[in-house]
Amino acid sequence: MPDAAEAGLPSLPQDNSFREARWSTPFGIPPFEQIAPEHYQPAFEAALAAHATEIDAIAAETAPATFANTVAAMERAGQALERVAGVFYNLTGSHTNPELQAIEREIGPKLARHGSAIYLNPQLWARISAVDAEAEGLGPEERRVLDRYRIRFRRAGATLEPDAKTRIAEIAARMSELGTKFSQNLLADESSFTLPLETEDDLAGLPPFLRAAARSAAEERGLEGHVITLSRSLIEPFLVFSTRRDLRERAYAAWTRRGENGGETDNRAIAAEIIQLRAERARLLGFDSFAHFALDDTMAASPDAATGLLRDVWTPARARAGDERDRLQAAIQDEGHNFTLQAHDWRHYAEKVRRAEHDLDESEIKAYLPLERMIQAAFDTASRLFGLTFEELADVPRYHPDVRVWRVGNPDGSEVGLFLGDYFARATKRSGAWMSAFRSQERLNGPITPIIVNVMNFAKAPEGESTLLSFDDARTLFHEFGHALHGLLSDVTYPLLSGTAVARDFVELPSQLYEHWLEQPEVLRTHARHHQTGEAMPDALLQKLLAARTFNQGFATVEYTASAIVDMTLHLSAEGEAGLDVPAFEAEALRRISMPAEIGMRHRTPHFAHIFSGDGYAAGYYSYLWSEVLDADAFDAFREAGDIFDPETAKRLRTFVYGAGNLRDPREAYTAFRGRMPSIEPLLKKRGLAA
Ligand SMILES: [Zn+2]
Repeated sequence: MPDAAEAGLPSLPQDNSFREARWSTPFGIPPFEQIAPEHYQPAFEAALAAHATEIDAIAAETAPATFANTVAAMERAGQALERVAGVFYNLTGSHTNPELQAIEREIGPKLARHGSAIYLNPQLWARISAVDAEAEGLGPEERRVLDRYRIRFRRAGATLEPDAKTRIAEIAARMSELGTKFSQNLLADESSFTLPLETEDDLAGLPPFLRAAARSAAEERGLEGHVITLSRSLIEPFLVFSTRRDLRERAYAAWTRRGENGGETDNRAIAAEIIQLRAERARLLGFDSFAHFALDDTMAASPDAATGLLRDVWTPARARAGDERDRLQAAIQDEGHNFTLQAHDWRHYAEKVRRAEHDLDESEIKAYLPLERMIQAAFDTASRLFGLTFEELADVPRYHPDVRVWRVGNPDGSEVGLFLGDYFARATKRSGAWMSAFRSQERLNGPITPIIVNVMNFAKAPEGESTLLSFDDARTLFHEFGHALHGLLSDVTYPLLSGTAVARDFVELPSQLYEHWLEQPEVLRTHARHHQTGEAMPDALLQKLLAARTFNQGFATVEYTASAIVDMTLHLSAEGEAGLDVPAFEAEALRRISMPAEIGMRHRTPHFAHIFSGDGYAAGYYSYLWSEVLDADAFDAFREAGDIFDPETAKRLRTFVYGAGNLRDPREAYTAFRGRMPSIEPLLKKRGLAA
C-alpha cells in the first residue's frame, strides 16, 4: 500500500513522482485523486528535460553505434514523459475541464517541437543508420524494432536538408495547435447544444428508456425536464423514435453542423489549414500527396489499393441503399403523408420498416441487453478464447466515480493487467468510443503489465435502474473490448512494438473481429437476459434479431464509405490549396460519387475528429473497411473449425494477432494466422452486399 507521503499531495510535482518506474499505488495505477491540474505543467517540463538529456547522451555516445547503446537506449528513455502524457491525454479525452484544456493548448506544440528535435537530430540519425544488424547477429524482434525506427525517422524527415527540416518542425508544431483546437471546438459545440423537450407533445414517440436518458441528460446539466444532446447515444435513438418531424429536423441539423456554426468554435478554416500543411509536408518528404505519404506505411500500401476497395463496396452499397430508400418512401406514403424522405427521416422510417418486415422492436431488444450483462458477455468470451479471468477491484484510484476497474489474470493467477471501463456519456467527455492505455505492456524495463481503458458514451440510466444498450451499443462495447485485448494480451519486449502500435489498417482487426462473437446465438443465449426478470432472450426474438442483421446495411455502408472517400479525396489533392472551402470541396466530392441525398455522411468534414484531431486516421478512415475484409475472413476460420471457441484457432489468433503487437509485418501476421491472405467476398456477404 502507498504511504501518504509518497503518493500524497502536494509533493507530486516536486518529488517528480511521474519519474518513478511505477507509482506506489495498488497495481501502479495512476494516483488520480492526487493529481491536480497545476501538477501537469511542472511535471511535463521536468519529463521533457529528462528525456532530452537522455537523448542527447545517446546521440553524443562516442563508442561505435550498437543496437544496445542506440535503439534499446532510446526505448528505455522518456519513461516519465510517457507517464505524464499517458495520464494527461486520457483525461483530456474522457474527463476534461477548462484548466486541462488550457494546458493542452500550450503543451501540444512543445511536445511537437520535442519530437522534432529527436527525429531531426543528425547525430542520432547517423547512429541509428550505423547499427549493423548482421554483424551484431540481432534476433527477429530487435531487427523489427531497428527497422521501425529507421522508417519512423525517415518519415519524420531525418534525411532532409536543414531548411526542409526547419520547415517540417514548424509544420509539426502548428499541426499540434490546430488538432487541439479542432477537438476542443468540437467538444464545445457538442456540449453546448441541447434540444429541450418541454411538453408531452415534444416527447411523442419516445420509449421509456429514452425519456429516462433525456431526463438524466437534463439533470446532469442542472436543467428541468428532458433534453436531447448531441451524444450519439441520445441523438440516434431520438431520430429513430421521435414522431415529431420538426424536432427531428432541428436535432439532425444541429448534429450535422457541429464545427460549422461560425464564431469561435468553427472548424472549417482549421480543417483547410491542416489539409494544406499535410500536403506541404508530404511534398517535402518526396510524396505526391499526403495520402501517398500516409498509405506508404500501411498494409494497403497505396491510395490506389485503398480507393479500389472503397469503390468495390460503394457501387453495391449505393444500389442497396436505393432499394432501402424506396421501401422507406413507401412507408411514408402508407402513413398517408406525401413528403419526400429526407436525411432526418431515414432512421425513423427504417425502424418502422424493420418492425414491419422483421417484427423487431428496438426497445424490446434493449430490455435484454443491460450494460452489466454485456460487460460480462465480453469478459466471458475472452475467458473462453484466451482463458482470462476478471476480478473487479473496489479500492483503487479512479478519475471519475463512474469508472470501474478490473484485474485481468491468467488461468495460473498471474497478472495480465488492469482493465478500466468508463461507460457513460457526460459533458466533460468527447463523443465516440475508444480504447487507450495508461501504461503499455513491455519487458525491456522489467515486466510491465498494461493498464488499458475503454471509454464509451452510453446514456446512463437513472439511479437504481439498469442502463440498457441497443444492439449497436453492445457491438461498440465488444469492438472496444477487442482493442482492449490487443493491449492487454500484448507479449513483446520493446515498447515501440507494444499492443495496438500496428499499421492502422490492421489495428481494427482485433476490435472488429471481436464483434462477431456478440452475434453468435450461443453467446446471446447465455448473456442477453431481461434486465428485470433475468430471463434469456426468447429464441424467436433472437432469431429475428439475427435475421435482421443485414437490414439497412446499404445505408450504413453508404454513410461510412462516403466519409472514407471524402477523407481520401481531401488528402489526395497534391496542391493543398490555401483557404480551401471545405464544405464546397466535400459537396463536390459527394456529387462525383452520386451520394444519395437522403443519407448524410457518418462524419462531415468540420467535425471529423478521426482525421483532424491528429494524424491518426487521416487518409486512413478506409481502415475500418480494410480491416473488415480481414475480420470477416478471420472469423470464418472459427466457423471452418466447427467451434466458435476452437482452442487451436484461438491459440493462433493470440500468437499472431492479439498478443503480437507489431512483431511482424501485417501481411505476414495475417498469413501466419490464416495460412493465406483474405478475399473481399466474406465482407460483402456479411454486409448483405454480395451479388
Ligand atoms: Zn476501433
